[in-house]
Amino acid sequence: MKQFTTKRVLVTGGAGFLGSHLCDRLVADGHDVLCVDNFFTGSKVNISQLIDRPGFELMRHDVTFPLYVEVDEIYNMACPASPIHYQHDPVQTTKTSVHGAINMLGLAKRVGAKILQASTSEVYGDPSVHPQVEEYWGNVNPIGLRSCYDEGKRCAETLFFDYYRQHRLRIKVARIFNTYGPRMHPNDGRVVSNFIVQALQSEPITIYGDGSQTRAFCYVDDMIEAFLLLMKSPDPVTGPINIGNPGEFTMLELAEAVLEITNSKSRIVRQPLPVDDPRQRRPDIEKAQQLLGWTPKVPLKEGLARTVEYFDKLISAPKKAVRV
Ligand code: NAD
Ligand code: UDP
Ligand code: UDP
Repeated sequence: MKQFTTKRVLVTGGAGFLGSHLCDRLVADGHDVLCVDNFFTGSKVNISQLIDRPGFELMRHDVTFPLYVEVDEIYNMACPASPIHYQHDPVQTTKTSVHGAINMLGLAKRVGAKILQASTSEVYGDPSVHPQVEEYWGNVNPIGLRSCYDEGKRCAETLFFDYYRQHRLRIKVARIFNTYGPRMHPNDGRVVSNFIVQALQSEPITIYGDGSQTRAFCYVDDMIEAFLLLMKSPDPVTGPINIGNPGEFTMLELAEAVLEITNSKSRIVRQPLPVDDPRQRRPDIEKAQQLLGWTPKVPLKEGLARTVEYFDKLISAPKKAVRV
């Protein structure tokens, strides 16, 4: 007999890094989870532990096409998140954010579901306000290499708020800041996975530019907790709401922390700074603290140590067991 509180929850992008941790947590909490993914950057390995669980269902589907299912809540996580992946097919990236949002909002409207959007700190672009507050409108190049992602996510936010105003949908918009942890793709080019994999393989650590640019890194478990609290928050709480760890580090500091934790002798090398790379980024999380009662708990060094443990196992595992 199902518990009265069991919900049918759709997670798009559920086979990705954040989506798979979210599916784990929702299944553990006793919900029926439908994971929808086109496996562009996600992997069946990320959700292999859930496949035989009765509350879990997997569907291969691209969210740029309509989806007709019956659910109570939707977490719209589908979208490649690392610059090399989202720039691989930029038109598809914009379609995923924009058509994907329209389809998921249309679905939410038809079935009366509550819907959460995985937005991003990238909506602030290369920010001139620091730390970033939700009221800041951002500084985004609309025609640059990153704009397929940044502008796609900004347009998705527009759609969420127009469905909210026009159709009274129950929406939740999370502006996610850099998040790291186990199940990041080892080759997706993001800084935490790059540095850890390089350090573990005694390869040079690649710092882009002079390494003085900053980011604030949130451990994945803290992020998932915030998603659940935001989804559960009363209807007037729509966001957008910053979710991230306000601890701010330069890329040089991050490299040093990774070298220390891995006890690696890798040397640091410089490579050119990518175009439009934001100089600084740190969330103001006062709203999340006040409205959700949420504060990240895992300090960078602890989270890095857990992530190093994951990559260490992944790298030493036989190749075919790693990914499908
Ligand atoms: P990820 O690349 O690991 O996961 C994205 C998932 O979406 C993958 O499983 C991929 O196969 C799937 N996907 C992509 N396009 C799709 C489509 N058209 N239809 C169906 N599935 C599709 O990335 P992630 O880090 O887990 O990010 C998840 C979400 O969080 C993304 O929307 C991303 O923009 C957002 N986000 C992540 C971060 C971060 O630091 N990880 C920061 C800001 C925002
Ligand atoms: N849609 C979907 N699943 C549904 C309902 C709608 O994928 O259960 C898609 C459908 O393709 C539609 C889009 O969501 O084009 C937007 O739906 P909405 O009802 O807002 O607009 P309309 O149907 O008028 O285009
Ligand atoms: N970066 C770096 N070396 C790498 C990968 C990234 O110095 O091997 C830098 C990158 O230029 C950026 C920061 O690290 O300034 C964060 O990059 P990431 O792609 O992880 O996230 P985003 O730029 O989207 O915040």
